[in-house]
Amino acid sequence: MRLPGLFNKLSIRAQMTLGTAGLVVFLVAGATLSAAWLGRDKASQLVSTQLAEQSAVMADRLDRDMAVRYHEIGTLADLQPLRNVWQDNPNALRGVLERLQDSYPDYAWIGFVKLDGTVVAATKGMLEGLSVAQRPWFAGARDKPFVGDVHEALLLAKLLGPRADNEPFRFVDVAYPVRDADGTMIGVIGAHLSWDWASEVRQSVLPSDGRFATADISILDMNGRVLLGKHVNAVMLSPEQLAAMRTRSSGSGLAYGDNPAHWLTGYAVSKGYRDYPGLGWIVVAQLPIAMAHEPIRDLVGSILLVGAVLGIIGVLIAFWLSGRLAGPIQSITQEADRIGREAGVNTLPRVGGALEVVQLSRALRSLLRRVGMAEQRLEVATRDAESHAAETRELSQDIERLRRLSETDPLTGLLNRRAFLSTAERQVTYVRRYSRNLAIVVADIDHFKLVNDTHGHAAGDAVIREVANRLQAAARETDLVARFGGEEFVVLLMESDVTAAASYAERARIMIQGSPIKIDNSQTVSVTISLGCTILAVDDRDIQDAIDRADGALYGAKAAGRNRVRVSLSVVPSAAAAG
Ligand code: GH3
Ligand code: MG
Ligand code: MG
Repeated sequence: MRLPGLFNKLSIRAQMTLGTAGLVVFLVAGATLSAAWLGRDKASQLVSTQLAEQSAVMADRLDRDMAVRYHEIGTLADLQPLRNVWQDNPNALRGVLERLQDSYPDYAWIGFVKLDGTVVAATKGMLEGLSVAQRPWFAGARDKPFVGDVHEALLLAKLLGPRADNEPFRFVDVAYPVRDADGTMIGVIGAHLSWDWASEVRQSVLPSDGRFATADISILDMNGRVLLGKHVNAVMLSPEQLAAMRTRSSGSGLAYGDNPAHWLTGYAVSKGYRDYPGLGWIVVAQLPIAMAHEPIRDLVGSILLVGAVLGIIGVLIAFWLSGRLAGPIQSITQEADRIGREAGVNTLPRVGGALEVVQLSRALRSLLRRVGMAEQRLEVATRDAESHAAETRELSQDIERLRRLSETDPLTGLLNRRAFLSTAERQVTYVRRYSRNLAIVVADIDHFKLVNDTHGHAAGDAVIREVANRLQAAARETDLVARFGGEEFVVLLMESDVTAAASYAERARIMIQGSPIKIDNSQTVSVTISLGCTILAVDDRDIQDAIDRADGALYGAKAAGRNRVRVSLSVVPSAAAAG
């Protein structure tokens, strides 16, 4: 993985600690978010189910209560002993009705009505003698039991007086036909059940504490009109919703009320109880979503707290672990840094710690030992090589000295005969190849025996040396001057014709004759030389032929009185033949 450059510049310790902190934040955030996400979903499901169950309980309570009232009125209508009192004894009948009302105070009114619609007897004598022929319950109960849905009081409103909360009285009606012994219908017994009863049932179903205390329960009629709860009388459910709810009879997830998104909803449709047919009431229970999610918020808070504590512990462990890892590496680095800077430091300490650190330390120590051995071997080899080089140098100097010795005349430092001849042979090859001129001059000191005899052999040597110097001084760089033995000299002149050779010979003769030679601090000797000149000719077999010819010329110079130059030419000169 490529990390940003800045991160790579941090120490192992900082990287591990930061990395762990990042991981912890990621894990805690991930755990918290998923707990919140999953928890909210789960809590919503649970609460919705609970709300549906609560609605079912409430619907069942309503149905059972209604069924009891339905049976009570039915039993009263069929009661044998009442057969005589229905039409003939209103006072006795009123007594029976009032006792029934006392047994169940939610009966707002119970009365018996003749077939013509006139009230015969009623609790507290209310409406007696008045006609209820137009009331739906009277008409509905003429041939079979009747249950009428919630409605506001009409005739009884004035008689019952104002309610404490100024709301209108609302009733549920139960009515039964009353028959005589022959089965002939003689009237209708009707009861108004105060709707406050439903509020009490709701109160008993709603918990008074805990989250569900904020729950809201509404009762709607079979058409979706609110009977109890917010927006009384408003129709709150669409026909599609009603149809769906009726097929499922109980469930959740209903879009209901002013702000459906903020509420969880459960519902149940009442089904009646035994032979009580029911009115198709719908109970809707609601709880604000925020309230349902409250425990999840607590849970998320706890997860965050535990996560933070575990995270801090994790970061501390990472800090400690990375210290254990980085510490030995740092000390190895510091020691390695001292190697080569400080004298005498050439090994690393044995470092403990993690397996890899121990291995690294061991490998570096082994590496340094190998380096040390290699250094020693290199030192020895260098010393050997240096002494070999010195020996070789001395040897080649010796060889050079010997070579020069073998080629030089020891007295004068000039070339000796052997060296002269071998060099001259090469020059002859060159001159012949390129048709150049080459001259030979032979010189001999005049009456040298006399010098030896007069001044001694050492003085003679000094004279030979000085004559050699002057012959060399008169020659050019490219010319070869050699001592051939005794007091005889041979000079080879490159690129010289006979005139140039004669001119050299004359110059040398004058240089020697011109100034006397110093043989020691007090004495000088004056000598002269005779010289013979020639140039290499085509018919010369080798350089020796030319030397012989020059020697012949020298002989002529001696014979002619010495201290002079003589030239001898071959019949065919080399350059002329070439030209
Ligand atoms: P000429 O004029 O005819 O040449 O007379 P010369 O006396 O020079 O006769 P020659 O050339 O025959 O004599 C050479 C003498 O040089 C003979 C020898 O004693 C002497 N000599 C030869 N080599 C050396 C040397 O190395 N040192 C000394 N001091 N004398 C030498
Ligand atoms: Mg001689
Ligand atoms: Mg001589």
